[in-house]
Amino acid sequence: MDKMEKYADLLVRVGINIQENQTLVIASPIECADFARLAAKKAYEAGAREVVMRWLDEQSQHQKYIMANDEIFDEFPDWTVQYFNHYADQDAAFLSIAASDPELMKDVDPKRLARANKAGSIALEYYRSRMMSNKNVWCVASIPTVSWAKKVFPGVSEEQAVENLWEAIYKSVRVDQENPVEAWREHQRTLNEKLEFLNTNKFTALRYKNALGTDVVVELPEGHIWFGGGDEAPQGHVFVANMPTEEVFTMPKLDGVNGTIVASMPLNYNGNLIENFKFELKDGLIVSFDAAKGKDVLEELLNTDEGARRLGEVALVPYDSPISNQKILFYNTLFDENASCHFALGKAYPTCIKGGEDMTKDDLKNAGANDSLTHVDFMVGTKDLEIIGITESGSEIPVFKNGNFA
Ligand code: ZN
Ligand code: ZN
Repeated sequence: MDKMEKYADLLVRVGINIQENQTLVIASPIECADFARLAAKKAYEAGAREVVMRWLDEQSQHQKYIMANDEIFDEFPDWTVQYFNHYADQDAAFLSIAASDPELMKDVDPKRLARANKAGSIALEYYRSRMMSNKNVWCVASIPTVSWAKKVFPGVSEEQAVENLWEAIYKSVRVDQENPVEAWREHQRTLNEKLEFLNTNKFTALRYKNALGTDVVVELPEGHIWFGGGDEAPQGHVFVANMPTEEVFTMPKLDGVNGTIVASMPLNYNGNLIENFKFELKDGLIVSFDAAKGKDVLEELLNTDEGARRLGEVALVPYDSPISNQKILFYNTLFDENASCHFALGKAYPTCIKGGEDMTKDDLKNAGANDSLTHVDFMVGTKDLEIIGITESGSEIPVFKNGNFA
């Protein structure tokens, strides 16, 4: 097998972990068609019942945002809702190939992007909540496109940029290793040790500090659970929702975050870059924010709903990892979030609290879990980041020192 084939195989067998007779829905940019077809072939070989292709074209999307009738940005067609719900109810698995031009939408009115996003999130709430509580198996992965590769590797030829990005991705997902499947098992074991440390200590809060200006206390709700390295499908097998993944994560208490958070990397959101931004939080709510670039885009994101102004994820990623050691800014959250400690604005994963996947919205809120139409990760890790864990009895245990697990 060449590397591309190994990678497709890894996504299907470890990422999705496709089961005999299961339907797989693949969402892929049209530029990535060859790879998507290869992944489909691997899925059939592994026993898939049917592979359903959902082709995406960001250029047509861009054209629509610029040229379409204004009212359509508040609409969302029923047939699309039915499409997602139908496959979700059939226990289909969903593989998404995330590869976009990080700045394609910079000339689009951010209000249009925000409205369309909101309409989509409302219409697809059932489908989204199934994904976020792992009632369906899903996996997000990436392969290079020319426009994305050129942004990551400016100053070399198009061909060279694409080649470099392939190599960087292969390294990040351990496909450069002799036996990637075995390398993943080993990686999962390492993450499990971190989980054990965090889940045993049952910290009531984490205190973050670095020279960039982050100085914040993040409370964790009672009964929170740390996850990482894989999720459990309802059928009992393990799948990996993000490839690569280096994080261990849980949920913060929705009204228990106080202090300043300064982002350590640009955020690619909706085809726009938000840069050098920071938040001030009081009792979990963002009370002020600023950004050197893309402030209007950030503002639209925060205006999605009240939950968009609160945190829904706390994730720990060592500064030393196969992704961050490459010292590449990917402009793609899937990679950048796995090179850096991060938080997410918006909805918390219900699975991160004991019994959460079967709780009602009200139960989740009472337990301290944030709810929102959105969930967007942003990065805060730096090589000098210190994190102290505070236990129930008030003792303080170092969790992160100099950017890595203490
Ligand atoms: Zn995360
Ligand atoms: Zn996240």
